[in-house]
Amino acid sequence: MRPGQLRYSGAVVTFTRILPANPASIEHAAQLIAHGVPVAVPTETVYGLAGDARSGEAVAAIYTAKGRPSFNPLIAHVKGFAMAEQIAVFSPLARKLAVAFWPGPLTMVLPLAPNAPIASLMTAGLSTIAVRAPSHPVIRALIDAVGRPLAAPSANASGSISATRAEHVARSLEGRIELVLDGGPTELGIESTIVAVEEDRLRLLRPGSITADMLRDATGVNVEMGGSDTIEAPGQMSSHYAPTKPLRLNATTARPGEVHIGFGSVAGDASLSELGDLNQAAARLFDLLHVADASGAAAIAVAPIPNEGLGIAINDRLLRAAAPRP
Ligand code: AMP
Ligand code: MG
Repeated sequence: MRPGQLRYSGAVVTFTRILPANPASIEHAAQLIAHGVPVAVPTETVYGLAGDARSGEAVAAIYTAKGRPSFNPLIAHVKGFAMAEQIAVFSPLARKLAVAFWPGPLTMVLPLAPNAPIASLMTAGLSTIAVRAPSHPVIRALIDAVGRPLAAPSANASGSISATRAEHVARSLEGRIELVLDGGPTELGIESTIVAVEEDRLRLLRPGSITADMLRDATGVNVEMGGSDTIEAPGQMSSHYAPTKPLRLNATTARPGEVHIGFGSVAGDASLSELGDLNQAAARLFDLLHVADASGAAAIAVAPIPNEGLGIAINDRLLRAAAPRP
């Protein structure tokens, strides 16, 4: 338990505080983030719910606070090119875009750098990563104070609209987060443009205030439209990780040839969480799927996961990973 929390009838109650963003509150926010506690922070687009991108448990805490029922890959917010290069591989085209639009509301999806210090839950198990260097001074100061990339999806409860003011954040996430840094209303109010940069191709995954024309004018490269989600089959979408081996769910015991991922009382060959902790299971999910997929086994079996809290998001991802592929 931390200051700001009370235990009441067994439930942990969190008081959501709004503090004006200043050096002292930013330092306090950095301490919370270093301890795995997400903090809401203004960017030039919308408010983000920021956590340590290196820590699976910290990323899981963001999902818990948002009540998001599935894991999407999140955007890594960096100070600039030097930090970005530690986690993503930049082609000359990607470099050109960074020079033209960073810091600013442009997110690039790039290959994940080998051994990047990034939690697998952050990229939802993918080998690509979305990176952005925001221009808002408050999140920039926070990245500096923490000294690492921050995962920061929009700071609103799942299913509600993005927040452009500290009060919106507090209303949406009241009792679920400890701290909102108030930097006033956000300037742009819509989420960043997302572009996938593939060697010499640009694919617009999400429109935003940096338009396709602006991307083309800066690079001389035509921008293809449409997210991969719309053209690929479920389970095959490039924004969803799927193992190459068949996956069987709700398996309390393994069949011959299967590697077994356990949870709680089902031990398996390796466990998502021996204690049955859903936060820990979320943090380990993609790591263990990758390990199981790389093992000598012919197939993967996964223990039952309770369909509550983060278990809903875990089951959502497992169902997608188990979907038959064409
Ligand atoms: P949000 O953090 O709420 O602004 O949403 C982030 C968006 O970025 C989601 O729509 C993701 O699907 C997208 N995204 C993040 N990483 C990737 C990636 N590696 N490949 C494709 N899309 C991504
Ligand atoms: Mg959102």
